Amino acid sequence: MQQNIRVRFAPSPTGHLHIGGFRTALFNYLFARHHNGIYVLRIEDTDLERSKQEYVDSIMATFSWSGIVSDEPVVIQSAYIDEHKALVNRLLQEGKAYRCYCTQEEVIFRYQKTHDTTDLFVKYDGMCRSLVDPIDKPYAVRFAIPEEIESVVFNDCIRGEVSIGVDQLDDFIIARSDGTPMYNFVVVADDARMQITHVIRGEEHIINTPKQILLYQAFGYAVPQFAHIPLILDKKGNKLSKRDAATSIVEYIEAGYLPDAFINYFARLGWSHGDQEIFSREELIAYFSLDNVGKKGAIFDQDKLDWINGVYMRAMSAALLCAYIERWIDIDFKQKTAVWQIDTVYQLIDLYKERVKTVKELANVIIAVAHAPVSINPSDIATHVSQETVVQLHNLIKMLEQMTDFTVDIIKEQIKQWCKVHGLALVAIAQPVRIALVGTISSPGIFDLLAIIGKQESIKRLQLLIAQVNKTS
Ligand code: GLU
Repeated sequence: MQQNIRVRFAPSPTGHLHIGGFRTALFNYLFARHHNGIYVLRIEDTDLERSKQEYVDSIMATFSWSGIVSDEPVVIQSAYIDEHKALVNRLLQEGKAYRCYCTQEEVIFRYQKTHDTTDLFVKYDGMCRSLVDPIDKPYAVRFAIPEEIESVVFNDCIRGEVSIGVDQLDDFIIARSDGTPMYNFVVVADDARMQITHVIRGEEHIINTPKQILLYQAFGYAVPQFAHIPLILDKKGNKLSKRDAATSIVEYIEAGYLPDAFINYFARLGWSHGDQEIFSREELIAYFSLDNVGKKGAIFDQDKLDWINGVYMRAMSAALLCAYIERWIDIDFKQKTAVWQIDTVYQLIDLYKERVKTVKELANVIIAVAHAPVSINPSDIATHVSQETVVQLHNLIKMLEQMTDFTVDIIKEQIKQWCKVHGLALVAIAQPVRIALVGTISSPGIFDLLAIIGKQESIKRLQLLIAQVNKTS
């Protein structure tokens, strides 16, 4: 019978969710979905000083944006503090943990007396392990590593067998002197209560795994499977830093990345399925397997993320993009483009979605196009709009005024014909028309723009450009 898979993602709300955490959550989610299992979000808020409700809200908002939502009510770790404390006491009573009265300074002092002072890891010497009677002093609680154990071995789903000798460990603290249980202890208590079968997390946690396995064994709990996902690296192979990417997801949402594109990109960052790059959510669920997660760090590539975002943007209808803009990018988008009928806004979205990288750029450009350009770069005018061009623009306006059918094909035919009659190359007039219509020299084709912006408004914008040129010359 297949095991009922249960996984969790356990962020600490000490900051916004970062791309590393997002990918870990995604791998957990895909793994659960693939196996018809359960994915649960657990907020690890026991560090009361650093945890903030603002970050809990931001993490939840990120997941609601991406649709990677918990299958069961979100677990708030701090709600279980009494249970955690009772479990610490259980280990004390069973003689599997002991009270330690040493201060940190004492531990360091004793260690450095007998070891190289440059050691990064200061091991506890077990001084209090043999004390029998409690002393009336503040104490931390340390786990007593069983004497018969030489190493902790586990089979990582990504890395294969991992073995850590107990000489790498010491009797670690499971509860501080103020009574609060420590991370390694609480994680085991929660994962066991939640019946987590697979702990899938970042490789920075691999050093915690042996301690956690020893705790599982001390409690007699079934040890889950572990899978440690390699880091996300920059192009030089170093750990990704803030300088290389906007590492918090909130920034990506604001910058206009689509959730499906984001999921597609991060699923492929460290996992592969042949050479396929674009996956629907259903395909990701169908194909995802920890066997195909790479052992080496995955290199973050902003250009590829942009490319994938473009693929998803182009595949979306204008109506959906418009709704997305209003929901996630600019709540006032419809109001800011209210000069247009909604169909015109949709036409502009379809025209521009081919040319931008993000939904935010799309929203901005359409808001800008909705109104006559407020400022035109004087150097664009100097380069593309001469006095002679002004005369041509006057003529063009006269021709446009005569037109009754202002559709793309007719506009195209008429302007080409008009160019022929006046002995002009189309390019000579295209740039000034672009500048007049949208204020920049890069835009979609002018025939499309003229048709969408409409006859009256296009003529008005051409006249405004002429006025500006006349004013400055
Ligand atoms: N709360 C831990 C963190 O944010 C994760 C713990 C775990 O996944 O075991 O890094």
